Amino acid sequence: MTDNINPTLIWLRRDLRLRDHLPLTKAVESGAPIIPVYILDRTSPEIEKPGAASLWWLHHSLSALQKAYREKGIKLILRRGPAVEVLGELCKETEAGALFFQRSILPGEEALEQNIADFCERNEIDFRRFRGETLYDPGEIRTGSDTPYKVFTPFWKSCLEEPEPGEPLPIPRTIPAAKNDPESDKLEDWELLPKRPNWAKSFENLWQPGKEGAGEEGAGEVGARRSLARFLNSHVSDYKKMRDYPAVDGTSRLSPHLHYGEISIRDCWHQTKAEHVADKGAEAFLRELGWREFCYHLLHHWPEMEEQPFRPEYAAYPWAKNKAQLEAWQKGKTGFPIIDAAMRQLWQTGWMHNRLRMLVGSFLVKNLMIHWHEGRDWFWDTLVDADIANNSAGWQWIAGSGADAAPYFRIFNPVTQSERFDKEGEFIRRYVPELKDLPAKHIHAPYDAPKEILEKAGVRLGKTYPKPIVDLKTTRQAALDGYEKVKANKDD
Ligand SMILES: Cc1cc2nc3c(=O)[nH]c(=O)nc-3n(C[C@H](O)[C@H](O)[C@H](O)COP(=O)(O)OP(=O)(O)OC[C@H]3O[C@@H](n4cnc5c(N)ncnc54)[C@H](O)[C@@H]3O)c2cc1C
Repeated sequence: MTDNINPTLIWLRRDLRLRDHLPLTKAVESGAPIIPVYILDRTSPEIEKPGAASLWWLHHSLSALQKAYREKGIKLILRRGPAVEVLGELCKETEAGALFFQRSILPGEEALEQNIADFCERNEIDFRRFRGETLYDPGEIRTGSDTPYKVFTPFWKSCLEEPEPGEPLPIPRTIPAAKNDPESDKLEDWELLPKRPNWAKSFENLWQPGKEGAGEEGAGEVGARRSLARFLNSHVSDYKKMRDYPAVDGTSRLSPHLHYGEISIRDCWHQTKAEHVADKGAEAFLRELGWREFCYHLLHHWPEMEEQPFRPEYAAYPWAKNKAQLEAWQKGKTGFPIIDAAMRQLWQTGWMHNRLRMLVGSFLVKNLMIHWHEGRDWFWDTLVDADIANNSAGWQWIAGSGADAAPYFRIFNPVTQSERFDKEGEFIRRYVPELKDLPAKHIHAPYDAPKEILEKAGVRLGKTYPKPIVDLKTTRQAALDGYEKVKANKDD
């Protein structure tokens, strides 16, 4: 315990870890006692409001962080309310001499951070912000003509020409505690977990939060590090080949850990490079981390990207409104097995494989012609890894309106994609059990299967499994016709 020095407050947001945490390391180096604080802010317009599945993750992540700090003799303080006010109150209550935090890359939070900086200046509190959410500063990577990048490949090339990201910092050996801890809310009182009904119950089959030892992929720093270790030890080398097959455990599933900063991005970078330096799989994996950098770079330079089409001409696209079809998509009842399996994976686990995100996105935006905002919102509420930058960029990519997007005429065919990436129907059988007895040949498009095959597999279309809600061929053409309006808008 340290007396006679005013404590340093560490404000935590999407950096819920102890290792490679620059504000924490710097505060410890200053010798001041530390008070870490997390604020649940549901009112400040600048602060992102996680969706329901992400709040489920946040609960477990905070619980893990409380434990990690407790083991160091430190209490993590939880408070609710507008962040600027709560921090102001806490500074006064604790007579804090300093306030440190990791700066946010979210454009809205910049103004909020400035308000906090002004408050600190008025009150003579040492105020410091540190980088940490990305490998490279999204504002610093620029083209030769000093503009932000709009295309991934040259962006990533330019990143790779930058000096190597710094080595991750260890967890401070000892962290000085404050003499008196301020009051803290109880995490349970925040009610971040769903109760009636507990729709997230099945999430635990995949993520196993909070289970000691077994919790290989639970939320929190330990789970994050185990996920990375599992990935690097067992399948990074096959990543390039296997990352497109949803039935295979071929990707890292680090996304929720990275979103909440339970592991730092440069820690992922260095661990991957250290162990797999000349590995093609590792190179492909690092490139995906590069896509995350690119999405953050885009959001930094085009904050309106969350709402507005990056290419303005796409505002003319003739979106359809169809509540019944939207609900069929959300519930995994479209009659297209790979789409339904993917949407049910999302509902049952809070996560969806990247190839499937592309397929269900294309189906919603192109075959149903429903606005990408609807898909973005559903993902926001149901993904444990929901992330403003990656989600908006992903949806704009699908819609064709994004910076480095899929061209408008690229319309994924869910049947041929299913035949290619889930050949034996293994993934479909896992999430659409009503089709499990269909032979692989017919599982991708049961509506084309002969009657006797369906009967033998116990499938009654329209009864045990839906008939397709749209015709792929005509809806494809309608989507292409819609893009004529976009083109005309561009030519105007
Ligand atoms: C429509 C759509 C919406 C998406 N919404 C999100 C979202 O809300 N949150 C999110 O984290 N990712 C999103 N993605 C990107 C990608 O699908 C996920 O990051 C990935 O599936 C997470 O699984 P993983 O951790 O096993 O990925 P891995 O393949 O193991 O990749 C490692 C990490 O790289 C990053 N990454 C990988 N692919 C992408 C990508 N295309 N764009 C940006 N970063 C990427 C992620 O941080 C990921 O955790 C979206 C993609 C699409 C097409």
